[in-house]
This record gives sequence, structure tokens and C-alpha cells, in this order.
Amino acid sequence: MSTAIQTLETEPLPQLAPVAHLIGGERVVGRGSRPLELHSPVDGTPLGSVYPADEVIVDEAVRAAQAAFVRWQATPVKERVQPLFRFKQLVEQNIDELSHLITRENGKTPAESEAGLRKGIEVVEYATSMPQMVTGEVLEVSAGVDCYSRRYPLGVAVGITPFNFPAMVPMWMFPLAIACGNTFILKPSEQVPYTAIRLGELLAESGLPPGVFNVLQGDRSTVEALVVHPGVAAVAFVGSSAVARSVHARGTAEGKRVLALGGAKNHLVVMPDADPEITARNVVSSAMGCAGQRCMAASVLIAVGDCDPIIDRIVGVARAVRVGQDMGAIISTKARDRIVGYIERAASSRAALLVDGRSPKVPGKEAGNYVGPTVIDRVTPGEEWACDEIFGPVLSIVRVKTLEEALEIEGRSPYGNAASIYTRDGATAAHFEHRANAGMIGVNIGVPVPREPFGFGGWNASRFGVGDITGRDSISFWTKTKKVTRKWTASAARSWMS
Ligand code: NAD
Repeated sequence: MSTAIQTLETEPLPQLAPVAHLIGGERVVGRGSRPLELHSPVDGTPLGSVYPADEVIVDEAVRAAQAAFVRWQATPVKERVQPLFRFKQLVEQNIDELSHLITRENGKTPAESEAGLRKGIEVVEYATSMPQMVTGEVLEVSAGVDCYSRRYPLGVAVGITPFNFPAMVPMWMFPLAIACGNTFILKPSEQVPYTAIRLGELLAESGLPPGVFNVLQGDRSTVEALVVHPGVAAVAFVGSSAVARSVHARGTAEGKRVLALGGAKNHLVVMPDADPEITARNVVSSAMGCAGQRCMAASVLIAVGDCDPIIDRIVGVARAVRVGQDMGAIISTKARDRIVGYIERAASSRAALLVDGRSPKVPGKEAGNYVGPTVIDRVTPGEEWACDEIFGPVLSIVRVKTLEEALEIEGRSPYGNAASIYTRDGATAAHFEHRANAGMIGVNIGVPVPREPFGFGGWNASRFGVGDITGRDSISFWTKTKKVTRKWTASAARSWMS
């Protein structure tokens, strides 16, 4: 959650163009299976209909991407990154329009929408350095014999993305995939189809050849058709753990390269020596930002020893959040009702509901999907609030006596995306860094997203497959290497290798 105050839209907004697929540079409108109706989470206004791509349309898109691959993979990498320089500029020039589009279809605040775009731009910048990153290696392995390696793209790559970051998560994938020489089909969440198309328009304006970047709108059925299509070489997925696990299993069974990032339940450990004001603001920002719909959101706070002053301050900061202004909406009424269910059950349990977000007032947006900041204290490990990915603005507090107990609780989580500690003691922080069972660790940072070139990726049920989705690892994911051993000398052999 940004500390900058940015209100959600109050002006009537222009009609959106019909939801389209983007195949081989053409907008394809109104084709697909039974349409899904969309409403803005901000105020419930109708947005449009998504026609999920069926097997026929999936096949058309894969063929278009295969056709484009022939030229694209043969285009030198220095030329392949040129459209990305222009794309970065276009995203920056259109950042307000894009942010408002994201807000409208996803419900987060414009400041949050912009922050996601800025992180996406960082990956685009990283991808423009691809010529410097794929130079390969060479070594004289024996007298007169050289070995060298070079990277090749995989072919048609698919990116399947969740609703919560309509631009950022796709931008983790396609800039790197296409800079590596692959062609790409993005299958955004059926809940946020518009941003993907707008990104496709900007890529086309950047000079990316038709068919290198395609968009297929759709749901589960579209994913199932894509993951088994013989023309697809690689699948990157980001979404919930159950789906990530099944997409990984299905795709790898078909011989495809798959990296599937899943859900999370992130633990923040607070030591009694932590600065109350900084910690409280940071924890609330982590737990309530994007209305808690972030895979990096703080979800369980483990308070070690006497943290009452810090918890009091967390309650104060959480109560001051203005829903509909500082904090945006929940993606759907179904998701909102699910989150409210968790709060209802907490209210009638022995846990202490310190901040109750069940009925926030958001004047003028009564038909929007809102849940206010919620803080549940005295949760015990093993209870649903401590274990389930609630994916809403709900912070559960578990109280323990020692850091070892906190580490044990954190380590038992089946997930492993992020974990953070708040302390002023370096040795305590270092101990936590080494022991925490997660791929991304924060010290006095509640959303420890690594910046490029450090890759984004969790452990355990937060990631199926090998490596990170961004950073250096991503290059290994999007390419295959060829090793050449060659000898040009005609001299007599001087070793077994020669
Ligand atoms: P989701 O799993 O419901 O959907 C993700 C994608 O999979 C969508 O494109 C959707 O159309 C498709 N899909 C949904 N059900 C499917 C099924 N049964 N078979 C095949 N495809 C299916 O996730 P969501 O609700 O859109 O997003 C929220 C989830 O994403 C949370 O669990 C969150 O933690 C996770 N997430 C993880 C990361 C990360 O980096 N680890 C980042 C963002 C979001």
C-alpha cells in the first residue's frame, strides 16, 4: 500500500473496447466459448465479456507464434532487444492511462497499479541487456581443442498469469522470453483481460513483429489446451499453488519446460527491540497493500516476547487506513465473501479480533468489493488464519516466547515465498536470514521483492520447477545451450582429447 494518497476513480470512465484475443498481430473479437461477464471491482460497473479461447483458437495462436518464431529466432539478439527499448518508453509515456486501466479492472489504487508497472519496466530494462548476458563461454579444453557454448531459444513459450498484477507478472515473463528469441502467448487471468491487450498494442507500436507476442483470453479450459499443445515448448505459470502444481505436472509430462510459481503464506517475525513506528507502518503496508492480494503480502505476524507496544501501533495504523482511498478493492464478490468468511469465523472463535474489516463504508462505491484492514490476535499455529492463504487484508498474529519457536512455525509452512524479520540486532537478523524456509527474505522490509538481476522466486509449494522467473535464472529457463567442441589443428594428437 502506498503512503501517497490516491483516490480510486470517481469520474465516469470511457467505454472499453471489446475484450480481444491478439493473434499474429490481429485483434480477434467475440470468438471463443461461453462468455464470462466482467464487472469493475471498484464500483461494480459492467466492463465487458471475455470469450475463453477454445482448442481451435489456441491452435491458431500457436501456429501464428510458430510462424513468427522462424524469423525471430534468426534475428540477432542486438536487434531483438530494440523494440524493448521503445516499449519501455511507451509504457512510461502511457503510465497514467495504464495505471487507471489496471485500477479499473483489478481494483487496486492507481499508485499501486503504477508501482507494479514500474517493477515491470525494471524487467524490461534488464531484458534489454540480453546481448551482454548471453555471450556464452569458451575454453581451450585440450591442446588445439576449443569448447564453447551458445544459447538458443526454445520456440513458442506460454505465460499464464494471475489477476493480482495484470501488467507486472506478464512483464516478468515476456520481455525476457522474447529477448531470448522465443515467441510468446500470454494467457492473462480471465478477471483482468484488458491490460494484456493494451501491452500487446504498445509492443506492436514498439516495432515488435506480428506473432512474436500474442494474447489468448481464457480460463481453465484455455490453459488445459495450451499446456498440452504439441507446438508449445515452454510454460511459465504464476497463480495459486494447486493450479501451479497441476500445470507443472501436466506440462512436464508432455515434455515441456515448466516453471510454475504458486501461492504463499508469508511470515513476519517481530522482535521486541524492533522500532514500533517503522515496524507498524511497514507491517500494515505489507499486509494491507493491494488489499492483501499479493503473493508477497505479510500474512502471519509472529510476535516474539513482549511486542505489545508494536502491536498497539499496528492496530492504530491499520484503523487509519481509508478503504477506497489508501486501499483498493477485492477482485470479485466471491473472493470478498471468502475473506469475510475467515473474519466471521475469527469473530466467533477464541482469537481476538483487534481490527474488524467486515463492513467498510466506501461512499459512492457501495457496489464495489471492499474489505477493510483486519487484525486477528492470539491465533495459534495450525488454525486456519495461520495456515490458509486468505489473500485479503487480514493479518494474523501468533505470539511466541523465542525466536526459535518463531522459526519452527515459519519452517513448518508448506509455502516458502517470503519471510521477514523486524529487529535492530544484526546477529538476530543474520540468524533468521540463514534459517528461514523461504526464497525471499526481508530484514526490516515487509515486501522483500528482489530487484534485478536478483531473480524472483520462492521455495516449496510457492514454486514448482527449477530457478527463478526473473533475474539470471530466467535466461536459463528461456533458452537451451549447445556445446561445441572443435579442433582446427591438423597436428598429431597430444592427449586423449585431441
Ligand atoms: P489462479 O490459480 O486462480 O489463476 C491463475 C491462472 O490460472 C489464471 O490465468 C487462470 O485463468 C488459470 N487457472 C485457474 N484455475 C485453473 C485450473 N484449474 N486449471 C488451469 N488453469 C487455471 O490464481 P489467481 O486467483 O488468479 O491469483 C492469485 C494466486 O496467485 C494467489 O495464490 C497468489 O499467491 C498467486 N500469485 C503468486 C505469485 C508468485 O510469484 N508466487 C505472484 C502473484 C500471484
